Amino acid sequence: MTNIPPLDLKRQYQAIGADVSAAVLEVLASGAYIGGSVVGNFEQQFANYVGTTDCIGCNSGTDALYLALRAMKIGAGDEVITTPFTFIATAETISEVGAKPVFVDIDPTTFNLDLSQLAAAITPRTKAIMPVHLFGNPVDMTKLMSIATQHNLIVIEDCAQATGAKWNGKQVGSIGHFGCFSFFPTKNLGACGDGGAITVNDPMLAADLRMYREHGSRQRYYHEAIGVNSRLDAIQAAVLQIKLQYLDRWNQQRATVATRYHELLANIPGIILPQPNPGGESAWNQYTIRLIAPAGVDAAAYRDRVRASLQEAGVISMIYYPLPLHLQEVYQDLHLPLGSFPVTELVSNQVLSIPMFPELTIEEQQRVAYALKDAVGS
Ligand SMILES: *Cc1c(COP(=O)(O)O)cnc(C)c1O
Repeated sequence: MTNIPPLDLKRQYQAIGADVSAAVLEVLASGAYIGGSVVGNFEQQFANYVGTTDCIGCNSGTDALYLALRAMKIGAGDEVITTPFTFIATAETISEVGAKPVFVDIDPTTFNLDLSQLAAAITPRTKAIMPVHLFGNPVDMTKLMSIATQHNLIVIEDCAQATGAKWNGKQVGSIGHFGCFSFFPTKNLGACGDGGAITVNDPMLAADLRMYREHGSRQRYYHEAIGVNSRLDAIQAAVLQIKLQYLDRWNQQRATVATRYHELLANIPGIILPQPNPGGESAWNQYTIRLIAPAGVDAAAYRDRVRASLQEAGVISMIYYPLPLHLQEVYQDLHLPLGSFPVTELVSNQVLSIPMFPELTIEEQQRVAYALKDAVGS
């Protein structure tokens, strides 16, 4: 019996590999490996897809967040509000520019920022809010933008896990001032290596982002700021051009997989299923359940046992994320002890992401469901 992996990129390559390989070979033969028309064309296509005037390719989703902060000149003395329940890159970039990440607890249903607690975290130093559309599930951007507008704050959307997700009919990344995307291979639109992009609706801002991306330079060998070298290379852009054509179809398949899980896993005591935000359309990067431990049993230890039992049955699951950011060693200087964000702390001991990718078959999902029921003893 073969294992069911959390994600299987080989199946995607089997389906579209010939086109991807041809596009890569074309770049290799062209001799234009950095910049050039392939990158420019992809940037335009991605801007069109998201629905913004501009897209700026860069080296990673992390750099996309970093460049957005730099373009707004956010730095020492500034505060940026974000969630403690995310990948480190979100807060890391805030720290990297010299600003302070200010965490707000999450909503246990959506796993996203609890917007009812947002206003209380705003201070005179707050410059921006960095919402994360975690696991593909969009944040309520209507509510978030209204709070941001009221307080004159910049909104930098971390769309790394949510390419193709929509809020109220609009693509994420087109609603805030910046949309920051990752093309890391495990994301909904993944390259064959690292890559990222920023989307904006402001050509002046786009020019600034390009300047910071290219060593602080608008004109070669003339430098107005300390920038970085963060390029999306032509080979990755060629791969992404092919894959962008399939993105909506893949996201629909992910939604179908999610619907099947909802049916297969309905009414199992001790399992809370993910609830997509009703006003949005999730990109289902992950299907993340919460495991409720029996009374008197340590939540994380129970989750580990369920995970091990799944693994014995050939079902490989993942924990995103086991340790909230405020409890990480690197953030001990923020002095946010255990108890600071109770929902995040609770949920991080309960979450388990089960296999989720467009090509997952019904038979495999049935095996996952069977193994999970067995693991929780029902
Ligand atoms: C993947 C990810 C990033 C970083 O993207 P990279 O391309 O790996 O640098 C940022 N934020 C979140 C929420 C992510 O999942």
